[in-house]
Amino acid sequence: MRKIERITPPDTPRTLTRVAAYARISVETERTPTSLSTQVSYYSKLIQSTPGWDYAGVYADSGISGTTANRPQFQAMLQAARTGELDLILTKSISRFARNTVDLLETVRELKELDVEVRFEKENLSTFSKDGELILTLLASVAQAESEQISQNVKWRIRKGFEQGKANGFHLYGYTDSKDATDVDIIDAEADVVRWIYEQYLSRVSCEKMSAQLNASDAPPPMGGSFNPESVRAILKNPTYTGNMLLGQWSTPEGKPGRAVRNTGELPMYEVKNAIPAIISQELFDTVQTEIARRRDLAARANWSIETVAMTSKIKCAHCKCSFVRSVRKPHTQNAITTEHWICTERKKGRQTSCGTSEISDTALKGFIAEVLGLETFDDDAFTERIDHIDVQGKDHYTFYFTDGTTQTRTWQPKLKKASWTPAKRAAWSELVKARWEYARKLGIDGRSAPTPPEALAKYRAVAKAEAERLRAERGER
Ligand SMILES: [Zn+2]
Repeated sequence: MRKIERITPPDTPRTLTRVAAYARISVETERTPTSLSTQVSYYSKLIQSTPGWDYAGVYADSGISGTTANRPQFQAMLQAARTGELDLILTKSISRFARNTVDLLETVRELKELDVEVRFEKENLSTFSKDGELILTLLASVAQAESEQISQNVKWRIRKGFEQGKANGFHLYGYTDSKDATDVDIIDAEADVVRWIYEQYLSRVSCEKMSAQLNASDAPPPMGGSFNPESVRAILKNPTYTGNMLLGQWSTPEGKPGRAVRNTGELPMYEVKNAIPAIISQELFDTVQTEIARRRDLAARANWSIETVAMTSKIKCAHCKCSFVRSVRKPHTQNAITTEHWICTERKKGRQTSCGTSEISDTALKGFIAEVLGLETFDDDAFTERIDHIDVQGKDHYTFYFTDGTTQTRTWQPKLKKASWTPAKRAAWSELVKARWEYARKLGIDGRSAPTPPEALAKYRAVAKAEAERLRAERGER
């Protein structure tokens, strides 16, 4: 009789590999739950029929729009791995395992530290293979490429916007569309001019002098045909030359094409770093902005007429085809105050003219312009940005030509002459406006809608009161 010996396997509990699988519906190709149950039964059969493998469950998420966080089964599987219940995880593909490469990389690394292997069937990869480190590196580079791709997509959309004229119309001196119109290229000769302007400004050269020098040189002219102090100033103030773009500074109200208004925070703004090739560094730009602010402060304190430069050559006598010039009237008597007026150049030169315009005080003109622009006080930047020029017809007809192509004709009605608007009061007002801008900058909102800091207002009121008293004393009033 043959003796049949039953051979009992030795009692070594840790020889079996505890295997789990992870299944998920692929967003791209599968839409039905059937494919999920197919995966589940495939893996449970595979694990249970493989010698040496101990079935540790099949985890399956059906959520199509699953980030790692809202895939409950995936989280449960990770938990099982953390508590030491798993040795190996099978999954069909990298894309099935995680939708996002960064998450994938983090998960794989954690599992590796927990001594849990992951095998990707489709890619025929194991995180425990001798290429494991290389795979992780590759995955890392894929993650890098993905984030770069996102940034490329943003840039592409901006450039697409340029193409369709959506980003305020991308016609900026120094740049041109690339040949395939999908990118922006630097025009070297123009970029040299931009850099020269920034450097000259820091060497204390005025915008007036620079524009004259540029027009006399063979520098490529801007679109308007020649440089003027305002176009040079605009180049100095344009942050786009750093390659970073602030999108959404202007918005167009619905149904009013061509009527762009400044976005003062109602709509989001986006800063896109390195959106286009840079012509100047961020450091140089920042230095120049500091210098612009410094010179403006100086002007406000020391020479209160400099701010009128924005209006130079923008107020035109429609009859004489010339500009209005600023004229300072010296006081005739001891008690009178120095006043400034704007006057048709032909008239000022004393030529016979029947243009019929009359002079207008600087204060009145600024008040009038501010009113037309819907501002509380006259603002240099707003004037430069929004008004192309103003035609004066006859005594009091002013036609405003806006930079957005619209026009508006207004009749100026003189208000009572404000003799109280003294240089000291005016300087105090400049300080107040400056304080408001600084306050706005601190809050990150537009200066024109910023509230006035109370201490600045109190300071201005004190000066106004003192000046009123001084004027009364000068007039011998009590
Ligand atoms: Zn005239």
